[in-house]
Amino acid sequence: MRFLDIDIKTVIVMLCIGNLVVLTLLFVSIKPGSKNSIKYFALSKFIQSIAWVLLAFRGEISNLLSLALGNLILFIGFAMESISVVSYKKQITIKVLIAYILSPAVFTFLFLYLSKSRPTLVLVYVSVFAFVYAVLPGLVLLFESGSSKLQKTLGSLYIFGSFTLIIRIISALTATQEFSLFTKHYSQTLTFVTTYLLMLLGSIGFLLLIKEQTEMELHRAATLDGLTGLFNRRAFFAEAEKVTALASRRKEPVSLLMIDLDKFKSINDKFGHGIGDLFIMDFAAATRQQLRNYDIVGRYGGEEFVVLLPNTGPGEAAIVAERLRKNIEDRVLPGFENIKYTASIGISSSIPEPTQGIDMLIKISDKALYAAKGKGRNRIEVGFA
Ligand code: GH3
Ligand code: MG
Ligand code: MG
Repeated sequence: MRFLDIDIKTVIVMLCIGNLVVLTLLFVSIKPGSKNSIKYFALSKFIQSIAWVLLAFRGEISNLLSLALGNLILFIGFAMESISVVSYKKQITIKVLIAYILSPAVFTFLFLYLSKSRPTLVLVYVSVFAFVYAVLPGLVLLFESGSSKLQKTLGSLYIFGSFTLIIRIISALTATQEFSLFTKHYSQTLTFVTTYLLMLLGSIGFLLLIKEQTEMELHRAATLDGLTGLFNRRAFFAEAEKVTALASRRKEPVSLLMIDLDKFKSINDKFGHGIGDLFIMDFAAATRQQLRNYDIVGRYGGEEFVVLLPNTGPGEAAIVAERLRKNIEDRVLPGFENIKYTASIGISSSIPEPTQGIDMLIKISDKALYAAKGKGRNRIEVGFA
């Protein structure tokens, strides 16, 4: 398979240049608020290009520099790239850096130093670590719940990269002669061509991944309420309009619950705003958990909430509302057992007209809620047009 033999040295030079190009691309993409994973990813590209320079000069500079130091630096660069991809959503902490990069690096240095006269052993060692550092982001990206097409593609790329390393390890271990960096073999070609592709596609993929993540965070911030994670008022209306439009076409009823926590001002006054917030969060979580997935729950403002129940008539809506009310009445927050924590609920139902939004339902539920408050609170009230 002579035609598969490529000049490894040339590929290594290309890898060095490629990493520098990618570094420039990443450098201009870093913004003041960027996650540190993108900074570490850029740094990993810089470290890798230094490593490739040292490796390219194998045989022309001392073995200590090329083999031991070059591989050690490559190892650190790979580790840093790997951890950047694995934790691209989070901030990378010093603890993680030490566990993932520094402690194995110290061991690697000792190993490389001691085995500098055993090129096959060095190659296998470096390949095993490169395998681990490629397979981890691959698995995380592929199997993360709800991973996007982009994550799956990038994940598969890393898995493919790790697969070629296995072939390289097996080839080196079964070779009859020493198997080193410049040895011509199809497994070497496979590894280096894949490394080159991973350098190109992986970096573009990583940048797209960061972009996808940022867009998701922006979308969340624009649609979800920061304290409760429920829809904010605007997003609630947008979702509710979709449901009522569909209900109107199908001539199905929808119901709307307007919920207000009772005497909440006094909870705040007695225990402070922070404790008040805990109750608001507890209410949101408990209520969300009681409802079906397709029921829409929003924070209307302060301690007021709205729930839209698709395909639900007045009778069923009253049952749901009573269940929610009872659930809150029965709840005991550890440490705050003696705080009275209840809610009043106003209910409205209708089969929406084609042009009708939820304004009318809001109005009716609001009036019913007012009536519930007037009748002593901690109760539900059905409203009429
Ligand atoms: P009721 O509804 O039973 O008539 O009495 P209330 O005391 O709950 O009614 P009101 O509307 O007068 O007061 C609502 C209080 O909710 C006022 C405000 O301090 C509190 N509140 C609104 N938003 C928040 C919030 O985000 N966090 C906390 N802790 N309190 C909030
Ligand atoms: Mg209230
Ligand atoms: Mg209120």
